[in-house]
Amino acid sequence: MRILVLNCGSSSVKYELMDLAGAGELARGLIERVGMENAVVNHHYISGDSFKDLKLVRNVPTHREGIRILIDLLLDQEHGVIEDIDEIYGIGHRVVHGGEGYTDSAYITEDVKKDIRDCIELAPLHNPHHLAGIEATETLIPDHPQVAVFDTAFHQTMPEKAFMYAFPYDLYKKHGIRKYGFHGTSHKYVSHKAARLLDKDLSELKIISCHLGNGASLCAVSGGRSIDTSMGFTPLSGLIMGTRTGDFDPAVILYLMNKEALSLSEVNTLINRHSGLYGVSGLSRDFREILKDAREGGARSRLALDMFVYRIKHYIGAYTAKMNGLDVLIFTAGIGSNSSELRELVCKDMDFLGIRIDPELNRECAQGVISPPDDPLKVMCIPTNEELLIARETERIIKERTGEE
Ligand code: ADP
Repeated sequence: MRILVLNCGSSSVKYELMDLAGAGELARGLIERVGMENAVVNHHYISGDSFKDLKLVRNVPTHREGIRILIDLLLDQEHGVIEDIDEIYGIGHRVVHGGEGYTDSAYITEDVKKDIRDCIELAPLHNPHHLAGIEATETLIPDHPQVAVFDTAFHQTMPEKAFMYAFPYDLYKKHGIRKYGFHGTSHKYVSHKAARLLDKDLSELKIISCHLGNGASLCAVSGGRSIDTSMGFTPLSGLIMGTRTGDFDPAVILYLMNKEALSLSEVNTLINRHSGLYGVSGLSRDFREILKDAREGGARSRLALDMFVYRIKHYIGAYTAKMNGLDVLIFTAGIGSNSSELRELVCKDMDFLGIRIDPELNRECAQGVISPPDDPLKVMCIPTNEELLIARETERIIKERTGEE
């Protein structure tokens, strides 16, 4: 069962071909600078017992051309991994925004495409490119079923009291102003994986999943359902991120627009691109650089790090209260699953909640429990795998649609 997973961004196409029944990953790659001259194609593919890398420079004016190139690469005699396009069972697309209509992944039809188009207003930087990828795939391999896996779908189980903002109610009805949440695919993947690793029933667990990468969010998962998450109407709110502010008093915007005569677009750049770890440290958005500089005495990097950790602690406390307890705390994504130092800082002085870390397990563990083995509350490190979840969802949705066993 081979599934092609596509993630089409504004100037990139990320792909992965997976064999769900057997070998796992067969090939993956990233095409960068789509729409510009000299796009770079990095193709990583299985060859015999090992993986090989191929780098190409091509003109890739559109997503369609990028997808055509990657399909050719998958079929290539020398660098390919399949002989016939029909070996691909279906294509799964990451789609950031599905609005309120999608609580699950969806088999792509004209109606689904219209819904993705209708959500462009809510995700202008993402949904147009996902749609371009879907339509390009449709023209290149027309007989292959496609599935949309939405970042927002997992959070559609949030109760009204969690997703509503306290604006006049009409604005919710008129403009869909509410919390949607993102990173749903990752939060879903790691919470299911945690239950499996612990040999526990997911429906009985209270979990907090900390997805800490360039973008970062926390999610409270009770009984397998997202009941709250830190990102909101857009992926700006909640935690401090690489270049995003996270939560702050929105009146600051009005004040700054007045004091510094900032335009809407300048404010947008300020809060999304010039803030966060980068804005506070003045050094970098890259967590490794912040850590290194903080260790070497950089005061602003230390401040950025302290603020980052403090905000995560804030949400862990809030979500434990909202769930009336906590069984599992998961760290995932670039920072969460790689930085034992960050995990130690977050879990420090949290023993009043039963959160403790075993320093040795924390340092050595790549995946699994990092709290003392006898502690009832499990702290875990679980690398996320959004592509694998998208592939599994794609297989499930196509089978449901076609009535296959
Ligand atoms: P994205 O949101 O772009 O998918 P990632 O999940 O790849 O982000 O995370 C990127 C972040 O992870 C960067 O800030 C990077 O510095 C950090 N990171 C990656 N490896 C490590 C590491 N070994 N230790 C600390 N931070 C790391």
